[in-house]
Amino acid sequence: MAERYEFYRVVQSYIEQASHVMELPHDVSVLLSEPRNEVVVNFPVRMDNGKLEIFTGYRIQHNNLLGPYKGGIRYHPDVNRDEIKALASLMTWKCALMEIPFGGAKGAVRCEPSTLSTAELMRITRRFTHQLGVNIGPDHDIPAPDVGTGPQEMAWMMDTYMNSSSSTQKNAQRAVVTGKPVAVGGSLGRVKATGQGVAHCVSEWGQENGLKLDGATATVQGFGNVGSHAGLILQDMGVKIVAVSDHSGHIIQPKGLDARALYEHVKRDGRIAGFGGAESCSQDDFFSAKADFFIPAALENQVGENEARALNVRAVVEGANGPCNPAGDRVLAERGIEVVPDILANAGGVTVSYYEWLQNKRSERWNLQEVDSKLEMAMIRGYQRVRDFSKRHKCSRRVAAYGLALEALAECYALRGIFP
Ligand code: NAD
Repeated sequence: MAERYEFYRVVQSYIEQASHVMELPHDVSVLLSEPRNEVVVNFPVRMDNGKLEIFTGYRIQHNNLLGPYKGGIRYHPDVNRDEIKALASLMTWKCALMEIPFGGAKGAVRCEPSTLSTAELMRITRRFTHQLGVNIGPDHDIPAPDVGTGPQEMAWMMDTYMNSSSSTQKNAQRAVVTGKPVAVGGSLGRVKATGQGVAHCVSEWGQENGLKLDGATATVQGFGNVGSHAGLILQDMGVKIVAVSDHSGHIIQPKGLDARALYEHVKRDGRIAGFGGAESCSQDDFFSAKADFFIPAALENQVGENEARALNVRAVVEGANGPCNPAGDRVLAERGIEVVPDILANAGGVTVSYYEWLQNKRSERWNLQEVDSKLEMAMIRGYQRVRDFSKRHKCSRRVAAYGLALEALAECYALRGIFP
């Protein structure tokens, strides 16, 4: 892993670069420089062994100028305030870039989900939701899954929140979270949406650069929600997945591994280690594996200077939030390896979360084809806007993505003014 860094400051440095390109009014950069609200809760949970433990949870609400706060909930032992602040701000930029009427937020509970029973996870989730209380709500702040959480945690959050409302209001509260199981009001296509959006970016990059996807190759870091669905969808498009890594190790198969078989293996074992259809390899071999695309889909700060020098790919499509640090970015740029930035590449998740929220609000159920085709249009539009801005302003695609997000926010601030 690359050296530790201050994630929020890194994101702010991208804002500064973008603000020079599009001459951001000073007032707006001041307004966007710190989150609006930071909620920290310490809450007790009865563990299976009968003892009480205190857990720490966060909900950081960065900005709600364009709509209700929106962003995932992470369960991980290393979460900290700086990381959640940065991730909350990424949601503001992502929604603004994708023209989604939401703001940005992020939440987390410091815990190691793999060591907790299902009953403990349920009690942690319910207690955290209860403790957040009125800080979340379907028109105020709408959580979703992130690292270490999924549809089940969202179902528990929704149920806890609904049962804390008066009986006449209950059903209107369903939209308090997105990424729910379809059976409790989730959207078809949400589980795969982030990976699907990554695949659309890979496809657009291929078209732009004259690379046929049938027979192209990719390496994937992280094989959870984002990495596995990106891998499965890319494989269906003809892309060979030649190396994969997760918290348990690295595997390589230069002829292309069977992403579906790996998906089933991870569903069963919770890790890629022990998969029979590829050789295990070192981290160095993983990063230097030859491929057309590298798809980081694990955590932030994974690609520093060394990893960027090792990568043997044509493009990096960021499924994770913040996977490349500034030193990594610089080396990739020097080496002519293009980066499709996180706030574009992984925006498929929040885009379909928005569709889920709309369906809940309207008591509708959209079919998969409708969700998929709307998502495809949104991703292609996002990709092309970023590509065109970067060409127009001669800047990287990361700076272009932030520039577009800032334009939307600055225009809104200019028209509304500042109260009081
Ligand atoms: P997840 O918990 O489903 O999967 C995380 C994966 O990362 C797992 O395979 C895990 O083994 C792997 N991992 C953890 N530490 C690692 C390490 N040091 N090296 C290699 N692999 C490691 O999480 P997810 O929902 O797939 O999220 C992954 C990334 O995508 C995060 O940055 C998240 O913020 C971002 N993201 C997720 C969504 C979503 O809809 N879930 C949407 C947008 C962005």
